[in-house]
Formats: sequence, structure tokens, C-alpha cells
Amino acid sequence: HQLIDVRKVSKKYKGNVYALKNINFSVKQGEFVYVIGASGAGKSTLLKFLYREEEQTFGSIKIGNTLVSRINHKQLYLLRRKLGVVMQKDLFLSDRTVFENIAVSIEAVSAAKSNEIALRTNDVLEVVGMVGMNDRKINELSIGQQKRVAIARAIVNYPTIVIADEPTANLDAKAALEIMKLFFKINSMGTTIIMATHDSTMVNTVRERVLELNHGELIRDEQEGGYTRYP
Ligand code: ADP
Ligand code: ADP
Repeated sequence: HQLIDVRKVSKKYKGNVYALKNINFSVKQGEFVYVIGASGAGKSTLLKFLYREEEQTFGSIKIGNTLVSRINHKQLYLLRRKLGVVMQKDLFLSDRTVFENIAVSIEAVSAAKSNEIALRTNDVLEVVGMVGMNDRKINELSIGQQKRVAIARAIVNYPTIVIADEPTANLDAKAALEIMKLFFKINSMGTTIIMATHDSTMVNTVRERVLELNHGELIRDEQEGGYTRYP
């Protein structure tokens, strides 16, 4: 049984620009999938379809039993409960605290009581190695710490899938490694991870499934693939 099923998906922008062309793949629960390709290859567009920030022009996307391409607002909210997203540019309330930023994500999808919000926030801060940082303001944290908060926020509703768009961009090698370790840990707890990345060292070192896009086409779908086809 497939958790994600993408069939014949294309995206056409004005002027016959195809960001994606006839993409087909499926993902089982618990998989770790790297999405790679040059800038402009279509990685972000593909991820945005999965969390329905954009709609595809043709084809269908199923997540669980939900046909993402056909959902209404109420179903969209249910879908987003199943998905945690770590975007390239993390949208924070930057003059607010770590706690407040995570609490907002819980409140967005459920009517949790304040003691439960506190418990869950502490819980995810522990996962990302930020225990005791609840009251720090986002704009006083390093980029790496902000990324950790973004990850904490993405997992706080216990999603089935975490989607991450280049989570290690703008980080030095050491901070990037720490962030990648977090995703592997979250994956080992059973969460499916779909990650767009340019981190060739990581892709080559921790071998997982690779989806490679080139000018909007899926040119490679390889288990335990390297960053390049013939390394
Ligand atoms: P990547 O994430 O791999 O860098 P993107 O998914 O951002 O690639 O972009 C894929 C292609 O689609 C690029 O050629 C980009 O310029 C184009 N594109 C993305 N968004 C839009 C848009 N809103 N309008 C027109 N073209 C777009
Ligand atoms: P990313 O960092 O995800 O690759 P970009 O910097 O390419 O994103 O694009 C930023 C925003 O501009 C996105 O919302 C994308 O959809 C849009 N965009 C990208 N390329 C184009 C384009 N050629 N025409 C119009 N909008 C675009």
C-alpha cells in the first residue's frame, strides 16, 4: 500500500513553461526520499503540490486516501494535519518566542488545552535538542537554531509525512550535519520524509531513495542512489 501516489502530474505556467512534465512515482510509509536536481529543475514545485500550496495542471496526487488534487477547504485542513512542512524560508513570528511559534502550529489544527500545548512543545523541543529554549525570541537564535525550531514546529502535530525544501541551505557543514541527523531520527521514528536537497555529500553518504529532476522531468528514481548516477 502506497502512502503517496503521484500519477501523470504536470505543471504548466503561462507561456507554455513546463515546471514538471508527466511525473510518476509513489512512496511507502516510512521511506526517506531525496529530491535532487539543478536549480529550476522543479523540486520546489513538486513539494508544493504535495502540501497543496500549488495545484498541478494535469494528473493526480493521492496521499493516504485523499485525492489532493480534488480536496475542498475542510479536507485541506485534514491533509495539513498529516503533513509537516519545513520551507526554505521559515515563516516565523520573529519577534515572538520559540514557544509561541510552536503553539501557533498546534492551535492551527486542534483545540488543544494549554497544558497539552506546553507538554507537546517541550516534547518536540527535546527531539530537536532545544530543551529549555522555550522563551527565547526567534530573532535572537542562530540560523541553525531557527531551523531546529522550524523542524519542531513541523512535527508537533505528529504528521505522517514531513516535507522539507533544502533544509540545510545557508548552514555551515557542521550545522547542516546536525540538521540532517534530526531528519534521520524523525524518519527512524516512522515518519516519511520527502526532502529537496543540494547536499551531495549527504546524499552520497547516507544512501536513501533518490528522485532526480531535470528540466521538469523525473530522470531517475533509484533506491540508495548517489547524487550523480555514476559516482
Ligand atoms: P527548483 O525548486 O528545482 O529550483 P522550481 O520548482 O522552483 O525549481 O521551478 C521549476 C521551474 O518552474 C523553473 O523554471 C521556474 O522558473 C518555474 N516556475 C516556478 N514557479 C513559477 C511561477 N509561479 N510562474 C512561472 N514559472 C514558475
Ligand atoms: P525556490 O527558491 O523555491 O526555487 P524561486 O526563488 O525560484 O523559489 O521562486 C520564488 C517564488 O517565485 C516562488 O513562489 C515561485 O513559484 C515563483 N517563481 C519562480 N520562478 C518564476 C517565474 N519564472 N515566473 C514567475 N514566478 C516564478
